[in-house]
Amino acid sequence: MRAFIYLLLIVFVSSTMFAERIPDAHISVLCYHHVDLNSKTPYSVTSEQLIAQVSALNQAGFKFVTLKQIDDFMYFGKDIPSKSVAITFDDGNLTVLTKALPILKKMGVPFALFVYPSSISVGHKKQFMDWDDVRLLQKEGVTIGSHSFYHPYLTRPSGIKTAQKYNEWLETECVKSKQTIESQIGVSVNYFAIPFGLYDKNVYAKVKKSGYRLSFNINGMNNSIHADPYFYNRVMVVNTDTPKTVVSKASVKPVYFDYTYPLKLARITSQNILVKYKIFNAGDYDLTTAKLHLGNPVGKGYYSEKEAMNYQKVYLGTEAFYQSSVTLKDKAGHSCMGNWSFTYQKNIPDYLQ
Ligand SMILES: [Zn+2]
Repeated sequence: MRAFIYLLLIVFVSSTMFAERIPDAHISVLCYHHVDLNSKTPYSVTSEQLIAQVSALNQAGFKFVTLKQIDDFMYFGKDIPSKSVAITFDDGNLTVLTKALPILKKMGVPFALFVYPSSISVGHKKQFMDWDDVRLLQKEGVTIGSHSFYHPYLTRPSGIKTAQKYNEWLETECVKSKQTIESQIGVSVNYFAIPFGLYDKNVYAKVKKSGYRLSFNINGMNNSIHADPYFYNRVMVVNTDTPKTVVSKASVKPVYFDYTYPLKLARITSQNILVKYKIFNAGDYDLTTAKLHLGNPVGKGYYSEKEAMNYQKVYLGTEAFYQSSVTLKDKAGHSCMGNWSFTYQKNIPDYLQ
């Protein structure tokens, strides 16, 4: 009997000692490109817009964090503000140095910049930063990440015929880019932003093996501790976004899946498919409000109570990379969004399978 009580005590003590709390925080990572660029691109916001958006996020209770804080939260469960937002810029346009830096520095907002070496080597001739500029930003505390080497469509290798050439190509984009930036700035590069957000499972595996700690998409979704560090979600900001739009984009709650068809980052060959998804922690949501979007909304489909799974028949119009988003409400009525991606391609070359 005594032995049994001891045993019970041990079980009790060890289960309380090791009962870890699941860290809880909402994290939005915004993706910007240029500021005050003299062109009609939707990817350039004005200085005034940037200031107003940062102020609105502040007012809505968001705290600005670095990618290192997100890294520490994801891997070590370190504390992070319960409503966190990180600002990132892609591509290395000169206006990030001349316009964004002074504004964000003055407002006390950290940010990250993802550069690709082929553009930085061209530098000022094409409105890009040169390596001195990137080093200057790094000294100012800006986190520098890799955005591949040449900024290609990583799901659409062009002119490649063999597995060996494909591997060399991925190596250049993922590893050589990292090493080149590291040798230029003298600090390690731990974060990757996928060009155009175009992923497949090969790219995913390669980025993971290349020594990065977080890899970012641009699928419009936010994150919690359940996010995948190698499919970390970002929200694009474009020049038609008002401060209010940016706050609402950053506030949409993330949703994850126990199962999806097509599988996340898969390549499929059929044009008529039955999309299926089973939502993680399904009890938190009103699953009848779920709507699937593949670029455009494709409807509500039907929800099978028996399988706790949503179904939607879809005809894929063109061979492309598809971002499947599911929007729905949780039981408290908050807007939520989950997202996964896949590629539809009629004939998949052997080396991509
Ligand atoms: Zn880019």
